Amino acid sequence: MENKLFIYNTLSRKKELFEPINPPHAGMYVCGPTVYGDGHLGHARSAINFDLVFRYLQHLGYTVRYVRNITDVGHLENDADTGEDKIAKKARLEQLEPMEVVQYFTNRYHKNMEQLNVLSPSIEPRASGHIIEQVKMAEDILASGLAYESGGSVYFDVEKYNKQYHYGKLSGRVIEDLMANTRELDGQTEKRNPFDFALWKKAQPEHIMRWPSRWSDGFPGWHLECSAMSAKYLGERFDIHGGGMDLLFPHHESEIAQSVAANRTEPVKYWMHNNMITVNGQKMGKSLGNFITLNEFFSGEHPSLTQAYSPMTIRFFILQAHYRSTLDFSNEALQGAEKGLSRLVNARKTLEKLRPSDTSTADIASLKQACYDAMNDDFNSPIVIANLFEAVRIINSVNDGKEKLSTPDLTTLQETFTTFMDDILGLTSEESAAGDSGVLEQLMQLILELRKNARAAKDFATSDKIRDELARAGIVVKDTKDGAVWGRE
Ligand code: ZN
Repeated sequence: MENKLFIYNTLSRKKELFEPINPPHAGMYVCGPTVYGDGHLGHARSAINFDLVFRYLQHLGYTVRYVRNITDVGHLENDADTGEDKIAKKARLEQLEPMEVVQYFTNRYHKNMEQLNVLSPSIEPRASGHIIEQVKMAEDILASGLAYESGGSVYFDVEKYNKQYHYGKLSGRVIEDLMANTRELDGQTEKRNPFDFALWKKAQPEHIMRWPSRWSDGFPGWHLECSAMSAKYLGERFDIHGGGMDLLFPHHESEIAQSVAANRTEPVKYWMHNNMITVNGQKMGKSLGNFITLNEFFSGEHPSLTQAYSPMTIRFFILQAHYRSTLDFSNEALQGAEKGLSRLVNARKTLEKLRPSDTSTADIASLKQACYDAMNDDFNSPIVIANLFEAVRIINSVNDGKEKLSTPDLTTLQETFTTFMDDILGLTSEESAAGDSGVLEQLMQLILELRKNARAAKDFATSDKIRDELARAGIVVKDTKDGAVWGRE
């Protein structure tokens, strides 16, 4: 492969050359949402950052199997294995089946992802669909002697594991600090140490989501699903594991320990973590009152928002920051992103109508290389965007007759611009974005209405003209027994 891609590995704390275990295949696992509420900016950031990784690996020619899970059981309110299951709690409050909550918010999450032009993962497994695999893994860990059964539950023995391996290698924590900083909590007398984590929890009588096992009727611990499902679909050792930095500890640390205990192998070659979104410098969270859902961003209906923001503006805003930097939300920053994106969209239109000259005054080959260099340097999207803005400057300058581009340079510029803007950054133009404000749909309904009227009046010249012109614009009209429907070619 001509491009040498470097990825910052959280485990080694340095940038490493990307060399997949089994080229040209690349396996990637990213922790998906726990579906008990609408997606927010943090969900969008993780999904968009790893969408960038997915798109670029494919662009480089890898066959990528991208697994992003849906957590629908076992994620308790408190990381220390206490509190109610988040999904079960929502179900109780809404008087629904837990799986109704899961389906409802999964559908809404998918809609948001489509609006943000986030590609679907290759596989989207659910924790509740992989109970057998999780029970098997808990058994393997028990057999290794690194877990113990207590009162119908099974816990991972962190202290014992740490004597043979290193618990804390990913997050940089040491067990002595954990011991000093973890308090004994109520209801945790079953554990040998407060930082031991559940592989299997016996269900209390009121707990709805439960499955039989030889230990008890219960449910798997949250960390176990990702270990079991990544091994099932990507193998016991795979290339990339991603997620938000808030998942580094205890979730990902525990995933490593589980896999090493069960399979005797380090599960992941490259650990990647995206940074958090802050609001005026503060962490974003439901309890802090600065929590805005994606649907609220798209509609503008939230007291902290001065206007609605399109999904592509949100996507561009996120990609303007490197994934390992914090990203601070403000209306001003989003308005800046909106302006920046429209400059790119307008330049693309101008680029299509530029005429070549005999010579060039701009160095397009270097511009193209700079875009690749930025991506190869740990997916540096802000540098790619800066280079696209340099392209915008050149485009406008050529359009004004101040600079010239030869035919090959113009072709290279067009290819580079669309490759990076559309294929890699995934910034579709606002008109073609799935999540635009419905203007396109309204216009299409109006056009189809006019065509229907023309046909009713036997004015076939007009109805055919409408159909043919739409076809030229890449829109296909089909007549069904329920009336005409339209779609893109
Ligand atoms: Zn996970």
